[in-house]
Amino acid sequence: MLTTREGVSSVRSRPITGQDQQRFGDDPLAVRDTDHYKEEYVTGFVDKWDELIDWKRRYESEGRFFVEQLKDRGVRKVLDAATGTGFHSVRLVEEGFDTVSADGSPEMLAKAFANGLSYGGHILRVVHADWRWLNRDVHGTYDAIICLGNSFTHLFSERDRRKALAEFYAMLNHNGVLIIDQRNYDALLDGKYGNAHTYYYCGEDVSAEPEHVDEGLARFVYRFNDKSQYHLNMFPLRKDYTRRLLREVGFQRIDTYGDFQETYQGDEPDFYIHIAEKA
Ligand code: SAM
Repeated sequence: MLTTREGVSSVRSRPITGQDQQRFGDDPLAVRDTDHYKEEYVTGFVDKWDELIDWKRRYESEGRFFVEQLKDRGVRKVLDAATGTGFHSVRLVEEGFDTVSADGSPEMLAKAFANGLSYGGHILRVVHADWRWLNRDVHGTYDAIICLGNSFTHLFSERDRRKALAEFYAMLNHNGVLIIDQRNYDALLDGKYGNAHTYYYCGEDVSAEPEHVDEGLARFVYRFNDKSQYHLNMFPLRKDYTRRLLREVGFQRIDTYGDFQETYQGDEPDFYIHIAEKA
């Protein structure tokens, strides 16, 4: 069980407008660069997200999906490659997995480490590493690598995507598994939601709305209930394109789930989860 967190929320005297901190420059739609993710996850955004996206509610909505996928495959050692603020790392440690938590953003890792302590006194093993050079900074091999929370979308060139997947592949044991999720960008690109579709997280505390979508960029605005707003520039991965890259890098079997369901039919899912097996 998750224990509740106390004393972590930060008090601010005025609402934050994310634009000041995030530095997208005069032409935000031109920002299509893999390295920009470090500028986007600024402390204000990260703190606010963590304050409002209640971990317990997230825990309930995901249920045991990832944990069961890992346990069913006899996984013991897991690399959380996109630790962020530590939600999945803490979950994995609590379930008894031998877990290492990596991220390319030192701010995120600091927050994850603090969250590990707050949620049950766990000392997370954090490693600062960019996926493109993962093997240089993270040692050993793993039974599973997870890259969750729509993180892979931050890679803006195919070369970076192939490089990252090749690094993941190399760090997995011979029968290892990679779990990677992504937003359903096909629906957005194909106009099935229209650009006005708003995603609400935890009621109406946070909303995410696409501000601009083309084949090379999905720019979302995140609005919080104190009127502050932040942006993320992401690459709109088509589901079958991600599956193709996974296959081409060497994964033998790829199962894709929609919103944690084995069969997604009827309504379009908001997220896809790819489970890629090496053997
Ligand atoms: N998995 C977490 C979750 O679900 O809450 C965090 C997701 S957050 C949307 C994406 C994370 O990916 C950020 O912490 C960011 O720093 C990290 N990230 C993005 N690009 C990266 C890269 N090239 N190498 C390493 N980490 C990266």
